[in-house]
Amino acid sequence: MQTIPQGGTIGILGGGQLGRMMAMAAAQLGYRCIGYAPEGDNVASPVCADFFTKDWDDRPALAAFAQKCDVITWEFENVPVDTVKALPQDRVPCGHRALEVAQDRMAEKRFVEGLGGRPAPHAAIHSADDITQAAERIGTPAILKTCREGYDGKGQWRVDSAHDLSGLPTPTQPCVYEGFVRFDAEFSVILARGQNGEIRFWDSALNEHEGGILARSILPAPDHVTRHIEAARDLARQVADALHYVGVLTLEFFATADGPVFNEMAPRVHNSGHWSIEGAATSQFENHIRAICGLPLGDTATLGSVEMRNLIGAETGSAFSLLSDPANHLHLYGKASAREGRKMGHVTRVTRV
Ligand code: AMP
Repeated sequence: MQTIPQGGTIGILGGGQLGRMMAMAAAQLGYRCIGYAPEGDNVASPVCADFFTKDWDDRPALAAFAQKCDVITWEFENVPVDTVKALPQDRVPCGHRALEVAQDRMAEKRFVEGLGGRPAPHAAIHSADDITQAAERIGTPAILKTCREGYDGKGQWRVDSAHDLSGLPTPTQPCVYEGFVRFDAEFSVILARGQNGEIRFWDSALNEHEGGILARSILPAPDHVTRHIEAARDLARQVADALHYVGVLTLEFFATADGPVFNEMAPRVHNSGHWSIEGAATSQFENHIRAICGLPLGDTATLGSVEMRNLIGAETGSAFSLLSDPANHLHLYGKASAREGRKMGHVTRVTRV
């Protein structure tokens, strides 16, 4: 791939807040962005030069979109693989293989195991009988997860004891039964890989979840996280190299007494990297744009102690009051309705050391 010249156009598949922040980083480098998503009422379109509100399988619309773009990326890992395959492949540096792997929890676990990574004990589920057998082998507590489309704890059922098994839905789609990992903490490894194969890692934050949704990312992470970083980075590097991936890639882990346990991966910028906008020398959004445009990657160093807090649901009602503390950096995504569990914005605080 060539370097995308100044003033070039970046296509973004998906219209969420990740696309919004990606387009804002692209604008800083003089690029313009065009979005594409089936939903017109989205938060990326207000910061894009143009937006295609078209279905994922609308081939003429995809062709017209591609024709306007010098390079194409995504902000949402459930973009159908066939949509990406329908685009001119020389304009899709991230490659569709990363999406294919990350869209299916079983495929993702197999892929990572093949590279020596360790996921939670798990079993593929296609029927109610499979659940009974998995529960006998793996035990409880456990979580039943749909293989596809689940995020932020959606499409997941907790199994605290064998009594709960009778209350589980009959699987109508492939699922995975996952033994519950007794972890000390959760963290993610976020890296950017350039077109020349160069990889840069951001420091890993301690990620605190509430109700399956990321609540906070805190840096520096405590020792019980940092002691696992080297092993986790080794795996993340292998994943990125094996996929010939270009851009920002995220792997989520549980820190346990026996080492890092792989949870899931996202071939995109990630909520647990939002702190990097003000807390790192170069943000995940800027480095993703640099990578896909064939530019050199920026320094990923952390600039101090950082805390990023997600603003979820009705929490944004009084968001401007956060600005009474001059150290707070407020990000609002411009979503109209504050549904419960919806990520509406985030606030980051950096204490320089
Ligand atoms: P996921 O959508 O798979 O990332 O799950 C959302 C959150 O649920 C994770 O960040 C964990 O807090 C929790 N979780 C998911 N799977 C497991 C597991 N196997 N063991 C323990 N906690 C889990």
